[in-house]
Amino acid sequence: MQPISLTRSRDILDFDRRHVWHPYTSMTRPETTTLIESADGIRLTTSDGRELIDAMSSWWCAIHGYRHPQIVDAVRRQAASMSHVMFGGLTHRPAVALAEALIDITPEALRHVFFADSGSVSVEVALKMAVQYQRGQGRPERTRMMALSGGYHGDTAGAMSVCDPVGGMHSMFAGILPRQLFAARPPAGIAADFTAWEHQTRQLADRHARELAGIVCEPVLQGAGGMHVYNPRCLTVLREIADEHGLVLIFDEIATGFGRTGEYFAAQHGDVTPDVMCVGKALTGGYLTLAATLCTTQVARGISASDSGVLMHGPTFMANPLACAAASANLSLLSAGGWRDDVRRIEGQLSRQLTPARSVPAVTDVRILGAVGIIQLDHPVDVAAASQSAMARGVWIRPFRDLIYTMPPYLTDDSDLSTVCEALVAAAREG
Ligand SMILES: *Cc1c(COP(=O)(O)O)cnc(C)c1O
Repeated sequence: MQPISLTRSRDILDFDRRHVWHPYTSMTRPETTTLIESADGIRLTTSDGRELIDAMSSWWCAIHGYRHPQIVDAVRRQAASMSHVMFGGLTHRPAVALAEALIDITPEALRHVFFADSGSVSVEVALKMAVQYQRGQGRPERTRMMALSGGYHGDTAGAMSVCDPVGGMHSMFAGILPRQLFAARPPAGIAADFTAWEHQTRQLADRHARELAGIVCEPVLQGAGGMHVYNPRCLTVLREIADEHGLVLIFDEIATGFGRTGEYFAAQHGDVTPDVMCVGKALTGGYLTLAATLCTTQVARGISASDSGVLMHGPTFMANPLACAAASANLSLLSAGGWRDDVRRIEGQLSRQLTPARSVPAVTDVRILGAVGIIQLDHPVDVAAASQSAMARGVWIRPFRDLIYTMPPYLTDDSDLSTVCEALVAAAREG
């Protein structure tokens, strides 16, 4: 094959189509991609010079926008001194500083940090923690997880196994994935009555307790599984079930953490503390890939009492210093506290400007939680058409299933957010 010059955008896009996989795409029927040259603030710049407001925060990560001087500076300074060293037998200041900050901002009981290189890996680690903890308790037969239907926890095998059994990839990978136990999805709505759900879920746990190692869920907002908002008091029910049966309660805050739902962590809406917690996505402000799994001292001790005596995981790029430096810069921006007003302001404006979409015939629901605005249709969205329509209005969105939504960067101002809302409602009208 002749090497081709990839200076012209047309050549780049052509090579991309033929050789580069994108998330959930086909090589033989590739979808259209847009070439991005740079990003600044909340805007992406395309190769043909258009500016697009990023209403997705790069898949919910870029909460402070792009090229934020404090984060860029932190990464630059770290790169100048040490971009990476192995974490086996060595440690470094960026990792220890970040661990200290994470222990500080998460619930009191979470005191030990495992750094993973992506959200999915942090979920794998959480599942291993639960299983190893049970082994440490002399209960090696307890290996299954109870998960909520409608959840999403990542794309690696263990994480896939706890994703929604219908909407997830279970049938495609049947025989490969561990078979987990699924409770019903809690009823829709932040103040929904959950009596029937509670009864069913307690019964299910009673029946299966002897095979269960833990419970895993996304607190309050199920994200990629369908943008489903539920009553935070359901978390108290899960906490009680876990305590009653000696199960490890895992909260996956990868999508919900760092202010997105209006609290620093979504579990704070219900004031519930898990035994294990996963964070990722916005952890580095969207600058580098990093996730973390935190656990209580009780879980850490239990793992050490298991036959191996150690937690059996250790990625090559564990605690990458560049990513840790970006994350610490992100946490220090958040600690200034302005995010809370920003998220409240965005929530108010999303409510005012998206709620009228309820009158669009194809719209079945509009829901807002913190800086998350969701329009649900009565049919699957034509993703290409909807994103083209929004792009024509200067907005980048990426709908999925029957959902057109935004999770804008916190610094999105009123006028830009208006543009986003108009683009969302227009896309919903067009179908
Ligand atoms: C995105 C996501 C994951 C997976 O994170 P990756 O970094 O994509 O592996 C897991 N859980 C939740 C709730 C997520 O939103």
